[in-house]
Amino acid sequence: MAFAAACGDEVRVLESAPPRPDADPEPFDIRVYALSAGSRAFLREIDAWHRMPAERISAVTRMEIFGDDGRSRLEFSPPGGKALAWIAESNRLSRAIEDAARERGVVISNACRPGSIAVRPGGTEVVLEGGEAAVGDVLVGADGVDSWVRRELGLASEEKRYAETAVVAHFRCERPAAGVARQWFRADGILAWLPLPGDRMSIVWSARDALAEELAALEPEALARRVRDAGGAALGDLALDSAVARFALRLVRVPRIAVQGAVLVGDAAHGVHPLAGQGVNLGFQDARNLARELGARSPLERPGDFGLLRRHERARRADVDAMQFVTDRLEWLFGLDASLAVAVRNAGLRAMDSTAWAKRLLANRAMR
Ligand SMILES: Cc1cc2nc3c(=O)[nH]c(=O)nc-3n(C[C@H](O)[C@H](O)[C@H](O)COP(=O)(O)OP(=O)(O)OC[C@H]3O[C@@H](n4cnc5c(N)ncnc54)[C@H](O)[C@@H]3O)c2cc1C
Repeated sequence: MAFAAACGDEVRVLESAPPRPDADPEPFDIRVYALSAGSRAFLREIDAWHRMPAERISAVTRMEIFGDDGRSRLEFSPPGGKALAWIAESNRLSRAIEDAARERGVVISNACRPGSIAVRPGGTEVVLEGGEAAVGDVLVGADGVDSWVRRELGLASEEKRYAETAVVAHFRCERPAAGVARQWFRADGILAWLPLPGDRMSIVWSARDALAEELAALEPEALARRVRDAGGAALGDLALDSAVARFALRLVRVPRIAVQGAVLVGDAAHGVHPLAGQGVNLGFQDARNLARELGARSPLERPGDFGLLRRHERARRADVDAMQFVTDRLEWLFGLDASLAVAVRNAGLRAMDSTAWAKRLLANRAMR
């Protein structure tokens, strides 16, 4: 949808979900994203950012990361009180982008059931169940990590299922998080606390499957105590303020994302572990880059030309590979039980914490 908004009235969106309800529910959406400065810039370019209610967005001004030996930590914050990221709700973000897309002339067809794809020299055709055919110069598959478009185009993917489930919930806190995001690399998983406005915060606990099941089955008070203790009571007592959701975690590598007449963006092109909270940011940068490549094409090129789509593929490769490599290796390193691994990873955190340039590098990377 963000790609469509970036291109405007030349795009038709075929969305399988039904139309969005008129209003979003008042409680905070269980899904929240940490949006990078790069994503915010793109959302501003496509007139979506200002459509989100500012009072429901929380700026992250400091990051604290803890090891699992009780003393190793790494803290960083950008200079000049700038934000590292902004936490926004998934439903309000989607609505803002969709409204921007409509206003820019994008045609959105909901409740579509695509049945087949045919790539022809004159364009790419999607035939919907029911018989209607949609033809365009290029088909952009943005249909998530289990992408139907990817399968239908015969693009290979390599998948690794982590033996972990993300447990997601919101809490009210005795003391407000005040813009500080915290992450604990624990022996039993990776726990992130993300600041929400006021006295709220959201957690993502990427826990081994058995622990995730145990956490999700706890009574609200018991879960709140467990989360409080896992985070060293950094925000005092907690009270559960939402349902508890669970998401299976996967790494999905897609070596080739482009063919003549079609290309993949977002999770369809790459699944990453959420420990760095970067999935949605990678997807926005895909959308931004593809829209730019299409906008800057030579008069001799057509939007579906393989050469043009390959340029996009190459431009995005380094960013996606780096994020998949780092999150996968961190997940592996902090999943090891061997005492040498425990010592190495905690020493690594302490070394980073005492190296100013490394912290600057981290802050800059997080803000991209
Ligand atoms: C627990 C957890 C926490 C996360 N936290 C973060 C975070 O903090 N920050 C972050 O950046 N990322 C995070 N992510 C990752 C993030 O959720 C994804 O990267 C992001 O949602 C991908 O967006 P997408 O548009 O590519 O795919 P999706 O959000 O999956 O959207 C796909 C769209 O395609 C539609 N669709 C599907 N199939 C079809 C079809 N056949 N035809 C037509 N339409 C179809 C769907 O209805 C949907 O609208 C997290 C993920 C998990 C699991």
